[in-house]
Amino acid sequence: MKIAVVAVQGAFIEHEKILEKLGAECVELRKKEDLEQEYDGLVLPGGESTVQGKLLKELDMYDKLKEQIAQGMPVLATCAGMILLAEKVGNDERSYFKSLPVVVKRNAYGRQLGSFYVESEMKGMGIVPMTFIRAPYIESVSEGVDVLAQVGGHIVAVRYKNQLALSFHPELDQNLSIHQYFLQMFAG
Ligand code: GLN
Repeated sequence: MKIAVVAVQGAFIEHEKILEKLGAECVELRKKEDLEQEYDGLVLPGGESTVQGKLLKELDMYDKLKEQIAQGMPVLATCAGMILLAEKVGNDERSYFKSLPVVVKRNAYGRQLGSFYVESEMKGMGIVPMTFIRAPYIESVSEGVDVLAQVGGHIVAVRYKNQLALSFHPELDQNLSIHQYFLQMFAG
């Protein structure tokens, strides 16, 4: 299994470490030519969605990635990555791949709750650690989107077809179950 981790900005190395622990091979996508190699899945890491979105366009990586996601390549998106996938960002005019039919709210927890940690139920996975850093949450989902976790009444994890999107950062905790779930998505 070869996973391509978008590596233009943000917390990508942490994803690679976990995926490698689980036996996957990782490659980094830093420039357009990196998209020409063969790989099976994508990771869109946390970071700053506006910076990542801008860089992906400037580096001419955006169109190909959008096409790969639309064609069904499995993708794990965390935090800023979730914002990049969302069809609509409720509190920002910018949107990016628009492949995930949800409305997200950026920096949804405000300043006071910029960062926090909880342990909470994730559908089919039991209790998992969840580290939130200036996180978005999902305000609403369209039909067909499977809500996998809610914290404090807000949706923080969803699955839609080939896309697994999380408000929080599973790559920053030692629990491997979310990356394991992602790797199982390749089975069908
Ligand atoms: N606040 C960031 C954004 O709007 C996301 C934060 C994160 O990825 N940890 O893109």
